[in-house]
Amino acid sequence: MAPNIRIAVLHFAHETVTFLKNDTTLSDFIYPGSPASGEELLKAYPKSYMGGFVKMAREFDGVELVGIESPLWPKTYTGSGWVTAEAFEIFVGKMIAELKTQGPFDGVYLCVHGAMAVRGVMRPEAELARRVREVVGRKAFIAATFDLHGNEDDEFLKHADMGFAVKYFPHYDEYLQGERAARMLVRAIRSDYKPAHAVRKVPILTATVRMWTGASPWMDLTQRALTWEAREVDVFVNVFFGFPFADVPDVGITIQVLTNGDAKRAEEIAKDIADLAWRKREALLSSTKIHSIAEGVALAKQAIAKGETPVVLADHSDRSGSATFLLKEIIAQDLSGVIIATVADAAATAKLKEMGAKAGDAFDMEIGGRVDESAGEPVRIQGTILKAVEGYGQFWVVVKFGRDNVLVLSTYLVQLMEPFSLASLGLDIHSFKAFAIKSRVHFRKGFDDNGFAKTILLVEPDQPLLGTIHLDALPYRNVDLKRYYPYGNPAFPS
Ligand SMILES: [Zn+2]
Repeated sequence: MAPNIRIAVLHFAHETVTFLKNDTTLSDFIYPGSPASGEELLKAYPKSYMGGFVKMAREFDGVELVGIESPLWPKTYTGSGWVTAEAFEIFVGKMIAELKTQGPFDGVYLCVHGAMAVRGVMRPEAELARRVREVVGRKAFIAATFDLHGNEDDEFLKHADMGFAVKYFPHYDEYLQGERAARMLVRAIRSDYKPAHAVRKVPILTATVRMWTGASPWMDLTQRALTWEAREVDVFVNVFFGFPFADVPDVGITIQVLTNGDAKRAEEIAKDIADLAWRKREALLSSTKIHSIAEGVALAKQAIAKGETPVVLADHSDRSGSATFLLKEIIAQDLSGVIIATVADAAATAKLKEMGAKAGDAFDMEIGGRVDESAGEPVRIQGTILKAVEGYGQFWVVVKFGRDNVLVLSTYLVQLMEPFSLASLGLDIHSFKAFAIKSRVHFRKGFDDNGFAKTILLVEPDQPLLGTIHLDALPYRNVDLKRYYPYGNPAFPS
């Protein structure tokens, strides 16, 4: 049977920390495998949104998927600032041109994140949807998947029909949301679902480290959304927690509700969840304890002495990956049996690669820091190289130093989500008493939710730096903090 439904698939995703000095440039999106088109795009991220979308879409007869040339995540991952206008215009320009030549399409799937920030384009996902709509026309359906850190308001759904955001942080349900997007897109195209929506902003702005959905009341927001989806047929609820480190006008919590043709019902459900978030606003800001680095390292030392190990020491605030504050304090307080994974240092790793660094070599270098004031000062490490290896587009150097401590140097920011991945660097994860990592919440997937770590300590430097929980220390230009709790007293419901 000839295909009777044609769906274009596009990908453009970034979570932009606009306070970082290094822009996310065109070349950051270009590397072996990216941009991708056709089957290569459809095969990218098989366990995430894209994988779920493709799997479910292909369970329907007569559906043809067309992978439109798209950039994958930049090689800097989340460790880079504003996406340049050049990068946005070139990739979106190509997408639009290809949609025209390969069309017509009955539907379009946009695999986005929601917290991309582009110089001169304040709502890039909505702008992408607007331009796609111009090409595919009113009769086609546009569906997207989002990260719950997306900064969204009602603009995206003015141009697109449906959005499906993950509900958990760590984001366990990416594949599931991809599946949903496919199923609902096909149903809408077959006139079996008529998307109606409601959107509500809740003026609460807080750091992502607070947003773990394993603890109340963040968990309660997730649970409330799941309850609505369980009790009503064809209702879908997105609770965007938002991403405060992108200086864009649509930051803050956003509720989106989709129903089958019932806008009034969507409004009622959106109000119910928005009201819950507002009622719990005080508790939302105190669900996670944050320590100073000195205090956190001292507590880690005590936990090690008491055998409450392994310990996780997570510097949630390091957005470049190069911060050395935690490493410095671990040395100052003379901890042993600690792995520091990682400190990003592109210059040092490039130099080591050029020198042909290998296991057994003596190591004596100043590493980390420098990239901006939030990264702090470089730290001199003297030790022995255990491993030096190329992988995942980075150069990794594992150095043993001090009293059985191990430092992992990487090229770019690395957010370690679970300890087991360290085995690929030849490390025995059970030999460490403490893991000093750079993560806010995703590490809970492999260190906390599974019971691996006995002690968990979240830390940040005293001076509020760019990934701080003290958002009022950040140089916002596009956000008026007074309009958000707890920095002002916004009227709500508005
Ligand atoms: Zn996220």
